[in-house]
Amino acid sequence: MTKPSGELAPYAAHEAQGKGRRYQEPAASYRGEYQRDRDRIVHSTAFRRLVYKTQVFVNHEGDLYRTRLTHSLEVAQIARTVARALLLNEDLVEAISLAHDLGHTPFGHAGQDALNACMGEFGGFEHNLQSLRVVDELEAKYADFPGLNLTFETREGILKHCSARNAQELGELGERFLERRQPALEAQIANIADAIAYNNHDVDDGFRAGLLSLDELRQQALFDEQYLAVHARYPELEDRRLIYEIIRSMINKVVTDLIDNTTRRLESLAPDSIEDIRAQRNPVVVLSDAVYKKHTALKQFLSKHLYRHDKVREMTDKAKLMIEVLFERYMSDPGQMSGEFCLSATANDANESTKARVVADYVAGMTDRFAIAEHDRVN
Ligand code: MG
Repeated sequence: MTKPSGELAPYAAHEAQGKGRRYQEPAASYRGEYQRDRDRIVHSTAFRRLVYKTQVFVNHEGDLYRTRLTHSLEVAQIARTVARALLLNEDLVEAISLAHDLGHTPFGHAGQDALNACMGEFGGFEHNLQSLRVVDELEAKYADFPGLNLTFETREGILKHCSARNAQELGELGERFLERRQPALEAQIANIADAIAYNNHDVDDGFRAGLLSLDELRQQALFDEQYLAVHARYPELEDRRLIYEIIRSMINKVVTDLIDNTTRRLESLAPDSIEDIRAQRNPVVVLSDAVYKKHTALKQFLSKHLYRHDKVREMTDKAKLMIEVLFERYMSDPGQMSGEFCLSATANDANESTKARVVADYVAGMTDRFAIAEHDRVN
């Protein structure tokens, strides 16, 4: 089944119907608006830093593990495949995928948890909201506006979840969280492509690190079904290549299911426009029940056996401590932060809460290795 590229379904995100940018700009002469968003993201400082930020393993532990940059590229690859097959906007889905993790702290989820705890009395810290803050406020690259001034649709896709309190402060972008509506299909695709990407690359990284064994992985239906199929075809294959064959088959299985199941849902809903999609109570881009169960079981398995593995924990405990030390240090002595962060934190009208947000922005923007170096420097 080959679908023509270029022609979009009526319920796709059509640029002509887009809700535009926060600050009006003249149209680009040879690029579409979502292409332009993607290009702005690729040229951002936060995007470049993703190469030195971890997903599960700390960046300096080995050169072969995923970083947030390679993770984001894998998400974009999966998301574009799905978008093209469903006649949806590939440029938009790519922009969202590449931007979705821009707000992540150093040291993966351990860093996020630690920073959120530090920010407890100042409104907390949430990496997803931070990704939006990066593209809306923190990137300082344009003379005419703060941030990257991305389109509504890209920003809608970046903001995957949001508390009611935060949603109230986000205007039109926050409305769907208060009214229980859905984002565009392109945003829904990027969201699930994220989960498909990490489920699969974490199996690879976990196996390579020696933290997951073939026998353990075979307890997972999604893995074992593909293991049996690959093993039947290549009984002599060594483990390393076997794992790659299995992972490739797992991605293919889940992505095919996602495309087929979503196609069926779209046929029965028969939406006419992007607004029909936004009016839905539940996501439209979903796996079939059977595959969803196996995909979720694998996710839970990884959470228990990899993310909470003693060796990973040992590292994440250290990472948490480093974030706490850095936060406290900058709060008590903002002069330790670089230029504009120091200025914003010590401005006359800056109260404790403003200062804490500046410190959180500074710490969240760090790469793993810069955070380690800074921790050693201020300690
Ligand atoms: Mg992600």
